[in-house]
Order: sequence, then structure tokens, then C-alpha cells
Amino acid sequence: MTATTAADAAYIVAALLFILSLAGLSRHETSRSGVVFGIAGMAIALAATVGLASRSIAATGVTLLLAALAVGAALGIWRARRVEMTAMPELIALLHSFVGAAAVLVGWNGYLEVEHSGSAQTAVAEELLRIHHAEVFIGVFIGAVTLTGSVVAYLKLAGRIASRPLMLPGKNALNLGALAAFGVLTGFFVAQPSLGLLIAVTTLALLLGWHLVASIGGGDMPVVVSMLNSYSGWAAAASGFLLNNNLLIVTGALVGSSGAYLSFLMCKAMNRSFLSVIAGGFGLEAPAGADAETGEHRETSAAQTADLLAGASSVVIAPGYGMAVAQAQYPVAELTRLLRERGVTVRFAIHPVAGRLPGHMNVLLAEAKVPYDIVLEMDEINDDFPGTSVVLVIGANDTVNPAAEEDQTSPLAGMPVLRVWEAEHVVVFKRSMAPGYAGVQNPLFFRDNSEMLFGDAKQRVEEILHALGPAPATPDEPDGRELVSTRRS
Ligand code: NDP
Repeated sequence: MTATTAADAAYIVAALLFILSLAGLSRHETSRSGVVFGIAGMAIALAATVGLASRSIAATGVTLLLAALAVGAALGIWRARRVEMTAMPELIALLHSFVGAAAVLVGWNGYLEVEHSGSAQTAVAEELLRIHHAEVFIGVFIGAVTLTGSVVAYLKLAGRIASRPLMLPGKNALNLGALAAFGVLTGFFVAQPSLGLLIAVTTLALLLGWHLVASIGGGDMPVVVSMLNSYSGWAAAASGFLLNNNLLIVTGALVGSSGAYLSFLMCKAMNRSFLSVIAGGFGLEAPAGADAETGEHRETSAAQTADLLAGASSVVIAPGYGMAVAQAQYPVAELTRLLRERGVTVRFAIHPVAGRLPGHMNVLLAEAKVPYDIVLEMDEINDDFPGTSVVLVIGANDTVNPAAEEDQTSPLAGMPVLRVWEAEHVVVFKRSMAPGYAGVQNPLFFRDNSEMLFGDAKQRVEEILHALGPAPATPDEPDGRELVSTRRS
């Protein structure tokens, strides 16, 4: 068996492992095996690629390759071990930017090696040359859009730039104009490649990627992250064509299509147009609704909330990003157990984009051992709020904002939200009157049936537990995990 055949065989095994990995990751019961399949597939792919490359490059090249692998692996392990769960989207956005940068470099390398060096006739068969020109150009374009788009997404998610949409005049025309210019430049490049055209398309795509994502408001960022995931897949596939690497083509197509499908599902969940997202069209008509409604808000205390809960027959907990930040899921699980023991019906209402990751709240609640059957999706629970005595909004904001339904000028307009305000009483746990991730004020806080419980969510829930009865969470139990599991047994 030649080295190329062995590498191809390894690539097929790796591709199958990646498919098994995606299948495993689609359900939380099988997600661990999904991760293991993914790691195994990547290890095989890397070993086969290094093995194949080592036959055609000098020993110094192999050493450099292994050194790059070691540095990359060390950085990856270091970041993955340190990252907070709430910072995962920004890490993912940053990683997408690396895929984009790699695609740009591969494209440029392809051009310098073939078109620019004049070695076209020997390196690539004459009839395939035009296809090569197109691969270079398209690969650089997708890669550069992914690169800057992901950097802006990272900056927004990390809070380093404002999450509000950038509203340049003629925003749609700019995007469409850039796409049209790309089409025309591609035609010219395929006919007669030149360095100037490649520089032009790289600059155009870098600007377009920046503008596409900068134009999108904070509330719509979940779709942007999955969209960039998809773009990074197509960028990798484009590199695969250039490098003649089947595994990269298959893997890129898997990531590209699964990311596109996830974006589609998220658009449906958030009542957004899929095409509008792909075109960076979110927030286009949305004026800044940040100051929409203010008024008098009422404050409550942990003791008063405990009294309210003690007299409630049904309670719904709507968790959000703040619960993740405060790591309040453990005392929240304990509160749930206590209330259920006292005969109160307790359920959780999960918004599809609550937190900063798809499924973020489900993971936290599962971690704290909240029973699955009381954790309900938005559609399953949204009609039940009118019959609910108390809703505890724990660190959620945009996902419970009535402006999304009631104010057509709000940047959140049209996004389905949890209609918590229809319950008898609403208690909102947060530290201040600051707006949510989308940067818009929440009229819920000023409703007659709403009260604000200010402070760190974990601390406040622990105080409620203390006021309610015998089982307060003690500070020397590091994160409450022990506490919950011990008490449940
Ligand atoms: P938001 O981000 O809208 O609001 C979270 C609230 O938590 C804030 O108002 C904050 O108020 C409060 N908070 C923060 N820390 C604490 C703490 N320690 N204790 C108590 N409260 C705290 O949350 P939602 O979950 O409702 O909405 C998610 C938003 O993130 C949506 O706009 C969504 O589109 C976006 N997003 C979602 C992603 C996903 O995949 N799920 C990915 C990217 C973005 P204060 O500062 O006053 O305490």
C-alpha cells in the first residue's frame, strides 16, 4: 500500500468518526461519546497528514510541522481548561477566525505557488487551471469574510465593543454591492489572474465580514455565531479543494451544512429571516429602543420573596445568563427541591437563546441535577403563565422582555419571549437596572406585578433558602454540587 492510499484510508476512517461525532453531539445522553469520536477522528487525520507530508518535505519541514502542532495543542489545551462556560461563544468565535485566516493563507499560498510563480503548466494541468483560479479567489473571499466577521463577533461577545448594531446608511446596498463586486472580480481573475485582483478581493472580503457582523444587534448574536460556524466550514472546504485534500472537503462540508442548519433552526426559534441573517440584514430597520420605557420599579427582599413562595401553589423559574454568571444553579436546584417537598408545583421555562450558548441553561440545570421532566422549552410553557402564582426570573433579561411582542420599534421586535408578565407575581433577580445583552431596557421591571430583587443571584437564592426553612447552602461548600447531591440521596 502506498503512503497516499494509506492516508486516504485514514481520511475515510476520520471522516466516519466525524459523522459519528456529530450524531453523538446531537443528544446529551451521547454527547460524551460524540466528543471522543471527534478527538479520535482528529488524531487520525493529523497523524495521516503529518505522515503523508513527511514523505515529500525535508526533515526540517517535518520538525517545524511537529513544533507547530505542539504549540497549537498546548495553546488549545490551556485555553480550553481555563475558559468559563459563559465565555464559550467568544472562544468559539475566535476559533472560527483562525479557520478564516487559514483559508486566506492557503488561498494566497495557492496563488503564489501556481499563478504567480509561473509554474502553472507544471503544477496544474492546463484544463484545470481556471478551476484553480476560481478556487483561490473563492477560498480567499470566504476565508476573509469569516476572519473579520468572527473577530467582530468575538469583540461583541466579549463586551469589548458595544453589542448594538452598526447602522451605516445604505447598509443593504453596501452588502449587495460588495457581493456584486466579488462576482465581477472573480470573472476577471479567472480570465487573467493578477496580484492586484487578489489584494482587492482580500480587502473587499475583510471589510464585508466586518460590516456584516457589526450590523447585527446583540440579541441576534446566537444566530451569528452559528452562521460563522457555517462560514468557517465552507472556508475549510474551499481550502480542501485547493490543497486537494478530501478530508478537509468532507469535514468543511459537514461543518458548513450543520452550521447552516443550526442557523436555520435558530432563525425559526427567534422568528428571524434566514436569508436576512446570511446577508447581515438583522436590525436593519430597528431604531435604538434602549430608552423605550422607564418608570417606577418596586424592590423586594429575599425574606419577602420567601413569604411569597411559601404561599404559592405554582412557581415557574425563568433562568438566564445571570444565573450562569452567578453559578446560582445549585441553590436554585435546592430551592426547587424544597418547594416541591412542600407541595408547590415548580417548573423551569427555557428560552432557546437564554444564556450565551444553545442549551446553556439545560446544561447548568442538568449539572445541578434538576429533574429533566420539569425543565420545559418555551413553547411548552408559554401558555401556562396566566395560571402561575410566582415567576422567578433569575438573571434573565432579553428573553423575558415584553417589548419584543409589544414594541415594533424595539431591536428585539418579533423575537418570541417568555411571557412571564402574565403570571400573578414576577420577581426579577439581578444586580442593577442595567439592560440585557441586546442593550435595550426591559419594561417588565416597571409592571405592577413585578418586583426587583437586587444582588448576586446565588446569594439571594441562598438567603431565600435560609428564610424558607432548614436547609441553607453553606459558604464552605465550594459550588453547592456536593450539597445538592448529598441532600437528594
Ligand atoms: P441577558 O444577557 O439579556 O441578561 C442577563 C442579565 O443577568 C443581565 O440583565 C444582568 O443584569 C443579570 N446578571 C448578570 N450577572 C448577574 C448575577 N451575578 N446575579 C444576578 N443577575 C446577574 O440574558 P438572557 O439569558 O435573558 O438573554 C440572552 C441574551 O444573549 C439574548 O439577547 C441572546 O440573544 C444573547 N446571546 C445568546 C446566545 C445563545 O446561544 N444562547 C449567544 C450569544 C448571545 P445586572 O447586570 O443588572 O445584574
